[in-house]
Amino acid sequence: MIEVTILGSTGSVGRNTLDVLARHPERFTVAALTAHRNVAAMAEQCQRWQPRLAVLRDPQAAAELRTTLRQAGVATEVATGIDGLVAAAQQGDYVMAAIVGAAGLLPTLAAAEAGKRVMLANKEALVMAGPLFMSAIREAKATLLPIDSEHNALFQCLPPHFHQGLASVGIERLLLTASGGPFLNTPVEHLATVTPEQACTHPTWSMGRKISVDSATLMNKGLELIEAHWLFAASPQQLDVVIHPQSVIHSMVVYRDGSVLAQLGQPDMRTPIAHALAWPERMDAGVQPLDFFSLNQLTFQLPDQQQFPCLRLARAALAAGDGSSAVLNAANEQAVQAFLDGQLRFTDIARVVEETLASVDAPLPRDLDDVLALDAAARRQARLCQQQRN
Ligand code: NAD
Ligand code: MG
Repeated sequence: MIEVTILGSTGSVGRNTLDVLARHPERFTVAALTAHRNVAAMAEQCQRWQPRLAVLRDPQAAAELRTTLRQAGVATEVATGIDGLVAAAQQGDYVMAAIVGAAGLLPTLAAAEAGKRVMLANKEALVMAGPLFMSAIREAKATLLPIDSEHNALFQCLPPHFHQGLASVGIERLLLTASGGPFLNTPVEHLATVTPEQACTHPTWSMGRKISVDSATLMNKGLELIEAHWLFAASPQQLDVVIHPQSVIHSMVVYRDGSVLAQLGQPDMRTPIAHALAWPERMDAGVQPLDFFSLNQLTFQLPDQQQFPCLRLARAALAAGDGSSAVLNAANEQAVQAFLDGQLRFTDIARVVEETLASVDAPLPRDLDDVLALDAAARRQARLCQQQRN
């Protein structure tokens, strides 16, 4: 039996992971589950999965969960706080890192340091602390498998020895596909007044609210460029984005000999999740294969820089090669939350990120403390920029 821990089990990726595990009871059990503060959802998951440990980040919610589980006769131990999250990340054989945002950094890093099979959905951790995270993986001899659908697709299309360097194994470029989000065809002048509900209505994927907004600004694709840079040691010149509104091709690898390898499938996260759980084998994910006879056209276009300034900002942060990626991520998280709370216009998300990048000094972080300090400084500055826009 393989024991799986899910960091962020009540979220979109977390629930999809449990859905896949439920299809293979002979192969997997659950070691630990974590979430922010949703007592009801966590109590239900604990009853169903009987993990050794359940963690709610919020102490009051954790206390409620403890009472609820005791009354229900569930033996799961309950913990809280960042220490609880880190303890959970050290449980089991495989760890699904599916907390959203910077909150996932420490636990995801703990899973890497513990030498687990790290199934990485939490791209923000890698964007903030790429060099630290990758060296933790190497030092602990952990296995890192991408869950983000684009990176999972690339991983599937890369040769097993890609770690030797993309150019040396005959690869010219990695092409990340992007759906373009709900505002692909919205006139730029209408973007200032779009609502959080509109931004969170993704045309092809069903996801949490933060990544849905990131998909609407295309910051998600910017974060994914940085993610691909670290995962595959790809230089900025080896990375490209192509808009593909149908989300059928999940990404492509362009080889020197003219071959392009693509991974295709339904836009359903259970495919990359099952891939990482079963790797190097394959197993059922509950996902229907594509039906080529009912597929509409597959189309491709260049991203419009005016429509999607966040993509340009992320590219610039990547090219800077210093601490700018951590600043970009923190400013974006702050601005997206303000937008979701109705305190910032959609088009001001990119402005807040750009102004924050321009005003925060971002030397290359030497250690985790540097990363956290940079993250905090960027959030403070982003809040100031945001207040000036109100
Ligand atoms: P979500 O908002 O649906 O779920 C987030 C999970 O993290 C929840 O369990 C929540 O309780 C937990 N969480 C939130 N804040 C926390 C905090 N401060 N401390 C501890 N736990 C906290 O998010 P999601 O859509 O599942 O995305 C999770 C991650 O996966 C993100 O990094 C996202 O970019 C990435 N991702 C998601 C998808 C997708 O289809 N949803 C696809 C690719 C990548
Ligand atoms: Mg993705």
